[in-house]
Amino acid sequence: MTIREGIIKQASKLVLFLADWLFPKECVGCGIEGSWLCPVCRERLSWQPYQVCLICGAETDGKICPGHNWALDKVVAAADYNDLLVKDLIKICKYHFSKEAAQELADLLWLFWQKQNISFHREVIIMPTPLSRRRLNWRGFNQAAILAKMLAENLQFDYSDKLLKIKNTKPQVSLLAHDRLSNLRDCFVWRGQALTDKTILLIDDVATTGATLNECAKVLKQAGAKRVWGIVVAK
Ligand SMILES: [Zn+2]
Ligand SMILES: [Zn+2]
Repeated sequence: MTIREGIIKQASKLVLFLADWLFPKECVGCGIEGSWLCPVCRERLSWQPYQVCLICGAETDGKICPGHNWALDKVVAAADYNDLLVKDLIKICKYHFSKEAAQELADLLWLFWQKQNISFHREVIIMPTPLSRRRLNWRGFNQAAILAKMLAENLQFDYSDKLLKIKNTKPQVSLLAHDRLSNLRDCFVWRGQALTDKTILLIDDVATTGATLNECAKVLKQAGAKRVWGIVVAK
């Protein structure tokens, strides 16, 4: 880390601290003070009633149909991104630098997970979709890592942060479909041990097209992973 990066990192820690301290937390649903999502509004949240193929919408329990030829095997989403409560929470976490909002998302994901009947036959490793170092220094934390660590801890699965993003990319939402793929090309690397026969749960806050998750899945499968699932708060 250069001195410049060091200063940015320290400064962003201070900004994070100030952000959670300066801006009073108000429920994204009803505006009541005290938390980003109050217990009453949490009850109103629209969970995904069933899981579909991210690409064609077929009811596959979240599996990506083999015909699409994707490296990613499955996407499980807790909530609908069109739900304004979830959308606002994710925005607060990203643009207000609020770690507490990220914690709220982690609680939601865990609530959802406990209602599912998911078990694994292979050894599981949980990892977040990575941010580039520059983005991480700017934001101060990776919200996906907060979610992934929570899940790994609660489920007692291994956690790894050895999947890295080595290129700065433009925000995917600002690009057309065919530019999204070239934007992501060669930007992830796996820097850990071989993943032979492992099941990987790749955690993120949102999946829209799934392109990021799929690029990560390609890299993880090249490293030997048997299955790669995306687990997201919303899609
Ligand atoms: Zn509320
Ligand atoms: Zn499909």
